[in-house]
Amino acid sequence: MLTCKEFLTELNAFLDEETDALLRMQLEKHINECPNCWVVVDTCKKTMKVFKGMEPQPIPREVEGRLMEALRRKMEARRTGES
Ligand SMILES: [Zn+2]
Repeated sequence: MLTCKEFLTELNAFLDEETDALLRMQLEKHINECPNCWVVVDTCKKTMKVFKGMEPQPIPREVEGRLMEALRRKMEARRTGES
């Protein structure tokens, strides 16, 4: 089972479909079990689609940074929010 940190490390490769089959399977398993990372992937995919329609670029660094920040905050809120 991957951790969220490991997942995020592989996120770009996953979105670019550059991961090998085994890693891809593990990443997909993680998405199925982790709503936080699922949201990140879903948002990235939508963002990529939008940007692909306009310019031939992958995820803009700025968008990626914002997503990471949002995820970090969410995870922190979860940690402090739960007893
Ligand atoms: Zn996760």
